[in-house]
Amino acid sequence: MSQTTPTLREISCADDYDPNSMPVDQARRLIARFLSPVVGVERVGVRAALGRILAEDVVSPVDVPAHDNSAMDGYAVRHADLGAHEANLRIAGTAYAGKPYVGPIGAGECIRIMTGGVVPAAMDTIVMQEHTRAVGDHVTIGPGHRQGQNLRRAGEDLARGGVALPRGKLMTPADIGLIASLGIAEVSVHRKLRVAFFSTGDELMSIGSTLAEGQIYDSNRYTLFGMLNRLGVDFVDMGVVRDDPGLLEKAFVDAAEIADVIITSGGVSVGEADFIKDLLNQLGEVLFWKIAMKPGRPLAYGKIGKAHFFGLPGNPVSVMVTFYQFVRDALYVLMGRDPVPPLPVLKVECTSSLKKAPGRTEFQRGILACDASGHWSVRVTGEQGSGILRSMSEANCFIILPTDQGNVAPGTLVDVQVMEGAV
Ligand code: AMP
Ligand code: MG
Repeated sequence: MSQTTPTLREISCADDYDPNSMPVDQARRLIARFLSPVVGVERVGVRAALGRILAEDVVSPVDVPAHDNSAMDGYAVRHADLGAHEANLRIAGTAYAGKPYVGPIGAGECIRIMTGGVVPAAMDTIVMQEHTRAVGDHVTIGPGHRQGQNLRRAGEDLARGGVALPRGKLMTPADIGLIASLGIAEVSVHRKLRVAFFSTGDELMSIGSTLAEGQIYDSNRYTLFGMLNRLGVDFVDMGVVRDDPGLLEKAFVDAAEIADVIITSGGVSVGEADFIKDLLNQLGEVLFWKIAMKPGRPLAYGKIGKAHFFGLPGNPVSVMVTFYQFVRDALYVLMGRDPVPPLPVLKVECTSSLKKAPGRTEFQRGILACDASGHWSVRVTGEQGSGILRSMSEANCFIILPTDQGNVAPGTLVDVQVMEGAV
């Protein structure tokens, strides 16, 4: 194996590798070393390209704009016809958007032109209507106009043969509009990533069943569904799998056959990890970490067959935090997105007092809001327990408190990471 693609076992022998206190950044970097885009490309139509990732550069078949055209309603003139004082020009005709003027234009003549109208080759300057006085078929134009003003040149937006959109781009509404403007009906995109996920736990019940003492409803499959749905992957919800080695083995084997990525929640915390650890190490190669973060401490990453595996913690908030901090970016890389933009992090004033002990990176749940005078600040949602999903539901951002940070007094500037689609 080369240095850049070590085996998971090689990684676990590195000097700075401490699986029991793994900094967030180090875990991210280690995972990143195993990621490369899934192969497989398909052609899709303009609308179907929304939210997909381009597998090839989109090259413009035309100049945009196609012709020199006017940026204003006014008059297309020869700059040489404008004097140091006033010029009086005859109006030879009119060019509308989509209806060019094709007649002759003699010396001392101009044409009236509308925004988007094709500028005849002989004309080099547009004077906006507000700076002119027209009487009958003549128009008077004052001095001080710059040659070439208000004229959009053919190809100035995009030259024919130029890259209109680069490979690796996630297609936005603007992008599908752009390809439509080029007359392109289909583009090549990466095939959708296939993600299989299931929840593990003897205590978990699905919606619709009645809970016995000690049982709880499974919520992680729904938060995962929501987060995966937003990323635009194909997914298979494999339900709840009991803490039973035989059932878990079958679930992992089945998942590895159908999916590029397997995501589970629960079962990787101390006490439970041992039997899952043995099982996963028989089926593939998996690293188990205690991340120096709160919430979201236990995390497993590895390969089961060809599939990437993310073993997320069981606590509902931890699942979401670890998804945003590790899984989101990894999935985008596998989907072919390049570059993967991180979730935006802003520095804003925190109006709450925050409890924080040094030693771990904390991802407290925050509400980023704007007051009446336009000033943005963040406050913490209530209780921060990792089982309290309401704290995520109320939040629209994480307040990221670095490892060495202690308590935070109101008025302090903090880093705030905006959640995808939260606002
Ligand atoms: P575990 O990591 O399996 O020990 O789970 C940690 C905590 O998260 C326990 O209190 C579990 O009951 C809870 N938990 C695990 N999975 C889920 C789930 N799918 N939905 C809701 N809570 C869960
Ligand atoms: Mg469990």
